Amino acid sequence: MRIHHFDCGPARPLGGALMDGVSPGAIGRLTCHCLAIETDRHGVVLVDTGLGLRDMAHPWSRLPLLNAASLRFRFDANHTMLRRLRHAGLSPRDVRHIVMTHLDFDHAGGLIDFPEARVHVMEPEAEAAQARRGLLDQARYRPAQWGDTRRWHRYPERTAGRWFGFDAVTELEGLPPEFLLVPLPGHSAGHAGVAIEGPRGWMLHAGDTYFNRAEVHAARPHCPPGAAAYERIMAWDARLGRANQARVRALVQEEPTPLAVFCTHDPVEYVAMAVWQGNAANDRGADRQVA
Ligand SMILES: [Zn+2]
Repeated sequence: MRIHHFDCGPARPLGGALMDGVSPGAIGRLTCHCLAIETDRHGVVLVDTGLGLRDMAHPWSRLPLLNAASLRFRFDANHTMLRRLRHAGLSPRDVRHIVMTHLDFDHAGGLIDFPEARVHVMEPEAEAAQARRGLLDQARYRPAQWGDTRRWHRYPERTAGRWFGFDAVTELEGLPPEFLLVPLPGHSAGHAGVAIEGPRGWMLHAGDTYFNRAEVHAARPHCPPGAAAYERIMAWDARLGRANQARVRALVQEEPTPLAVFCTHDPVEYVAMAVWQGNAANDRGADRQVA
């Protein structure tokens, strides 16, 4: 197994450190941290897809205007999962499974670029995305991004197994037990983390359970105010989200930390994980082309 970390939706929001906690100037950095996992018997498995080729070409007709304008994504096809795979020497045709933390526009946009892949998602998330009840859901879920997907695997939230103190984790159809969905609703109705046991042990892609590393990794948890505001605006059930964030924080703060935990949008975690995994070189190639 080989794990690649890709940023498939880099954003440069105004607000600097108010958004990311580190940027010195007026412009902050956010990532759409996705994974491409080479396996021996199951092809390439993706975790989330970021923005897709069509989103990059026609962002203003496909993405929610307020979100796209405030986050200031860098709309460049070189950042899509499809191109990232090619830059890493992988064939997009080998993508057989895509495991989704949730179906927000900044995570599901690349689904359309892999119409033959099997897509794994929690049942409540698929339901909410189809129903699109209320203004928030109409903004966040964009059927044009995933309408071509034919092979859905939807998982009800139920007790299916235990993992690091989390019950209700779900094994995935057609994938080995090294891949698990860990329900963490709150940010959205069927939001989940994705756990993977790789060459360096277990890792948890926590999706949008938190937006900034200081929310779970700091001794005194806090969130930069700009990121906190965006997190609040996008929350389906903020209280449930905070409760699940606290569960992840408790896991991270065990001594010694039993696994690597990272979220989608924190740029520092993204760099740290790419370096830890030893594949930073792949990513530099893609970044150079758009610098
Ligand atoms: Zn997100």
